[in-house]
Parts: sequence; C-alpha cells; structure tokens
Amino acid sequence: SIPLGYFGGIGAASRNGILFKGSNFLDIIANVTTVVMDKTGTLTKGVFKVQDIIPDNISKEEFLSVLSSLESHSTHPIAKAISQYYPSSKSPESVEEISGKGIKARIDGRQVLAGNTSLLKSFDIPYPEELDKIVETTVVLAIDKEYKGFLTISDEVKHDAEVAISNLKVKQIKTMMLSGDKDALTQNIAKKLAVDVAFGGLLPEGKVEKLESLKKNPKEIVAFVGDGINDAPVLALSDVGIAMGGLGSDAAIETADVIIQTDQPSKISTAINIGKETKKIVY
Ligand code: ADP
Ligand code: MG
Repeated sequence: SIPLGYFGGIGAASRNGILFKGSNFLDIIANVTTVVMDKTGTLTKGVFKVQDIIPDNISKEEFLSVLSSLESHSTHPIAKAISQYYPSSKSPESVEEISGKGIKARIDGRQVLAGNTSLLKSFDIPYPEELDKIVETTVVLAIDKEYKGFLTISDEVKHDAEVAISNLKVKQIKTMMLSGDKDALTQNIAKKLAVDVAFGGLLPEGKVEKLESLKKNPKEIVAFVGDGINDAPVLALSDVGIAMGGLGSDAAIETADVIIQTDQPSKISTAINIGKETKKIVY
C-alpha cells in the first residue's frame, strides 16, 4: 500500500501545476544530484524571430520564398518562425527532416536544403567560414548543392530561467544544459544563466551520450528536463524525466515521469522541494 504522505505530495504538486505519474518519482526527485536541461523551449522561450537576411547569389524574395516553402513542412520552432515571417508559394516534394540538422526537399525540380552548417557539411557544400563564428541561431539555404545565403533568428531566455538555476545551486544540485543549437550561442546563454556545464551542436544521439556518461557514476541521480522536440530518448534514459508544458509535445508527455504544466523552469526546484517534504512525512 502507498503511505498516505505520498498522496499529500502528489496533491501539493498538482496544486503547483506539476503532475507526478507515480509516487516513486517523489522519492527519486528528492535525491536528484544533477539536473540536465534542454536549451530551446526549456530555458529559452522557444519562440524565434527572424532578424537579418543575407542572401547570396539569389534575390531576397526568392531566398525567402524557397526557404519558407520548405519550412512550412516542418514543425520545428525555427521552421515556424520562418513560415510565419514570409508566405510560402511553392510546393516542395519528397520533404525529409534531418534530425538535429534541418530539412531537405525538391522544389521546382531542384534539391533544396535548409538548416545549420552541419547539414551543409554532410552534403559537402562549401559555405563562408564566418558563419560558424556568428553567435546567433542561423539558418542556411542551399539549392542544387550551392550555398545561397543565410538568415539569423533569435529566441529569448525565459524570465525565470536565472532563478530556476540559482534555486538548484542553493540545493547543491549540479546543472547541465544540452542543445542542438550552435555551441557558441549555447555557451553564451549558459554563462548568462550560470549553468555549470553546457554542450551545444549536439545531435539527438549526442544528448543521449552525455546523459549516459553522467550515469556511469552510480552516485548520480539525474533529472532531464525538456520540451520534448527530439527529447524522448533522453527523457526515457534519465532517472526522472520532466516535460515542460506549454510547448511540450505529445511524445514527451507520454515518456516523461513528471510534467510541469506551465512554462516556468523554476518549477523544477518546486518539484524537488515537494519530493523532499513528502519524504520527511513518509519516513
Ligand atoms: P534543440 O532543440 O536543442 O535546438 P534540435 O535537434 O531540435 O535541437 O535542432 C538542432 C539544430 O538543427 C537547430 O538548432 C537548427 O540549427 C537545426 N534544425 C533542426 N530543424 C530545423 C529546421 N526545420 N529548419 C532549420 N534548422 C533546423
Ligand atoms: Mg528540441
């Protein structure tokens, strides 16, 4: 039978907009040693806005119309920003998402790629090396294996992200941020928020590797917090998988052990506090 105290814990959590899928997760979360977080949608708003548009050897209109037509077929937050910024007018065929890199399709009989510079590298398409030095999220376009320019888009750090990290520090819990976005940008945000360690430019399998290497130490009890876009494997691998609501995907809500129904990362420490309080009552 489940001790009464656990019901109190689950109830207190739910009044705070936090759903525990089982009372065992109250115990696990109380003992967490490291909180690993996704950047986009977890610590940042995940709502991108188009900034600068730098076409190369193509008109700005053609650049935007090809890019938008391609991105209108993706549900990635980056794609949404671009397809909302400029109307799509072409019908791409054989659209393929390339996880952690971008999207590929045929438009008017031409092969079109949109994504990060790793996508271009994997297709052996040369691009100006300055691109990798820009400390902003960039989306690069290539048509028929030729670089056609890029645009920059920016996201904002959530208002309570800094508090969320400092609350964990006070509890002597280590913090780690993982991202598929540029490493330079990832390090910048980590520094601003005082996150202990950060890794950018990761493919989904790279995030899994980071979690596995943490878990090699049997003393580590790891929580992963993500919005769920490409995060299901790491959510499943962690000792306690936490999905952030608001933007959370269905797959994440299914895989997660704990669901934060608001978009506030400060609820991570609230959930840990409730776990700790519940333990005091139960034992
Ligand atoms: P994260 O959620 O950590 O940003 P993702 O795996 O979702 O990681 O994406 C990693 C990177 O892949 C993005 O930062 C972007 O550069 C590129 N990318 C993914 N999907 C798209 C897309 N539809 N359009 C453009 N770039 C994309
Ligand atoms: Mg993601």
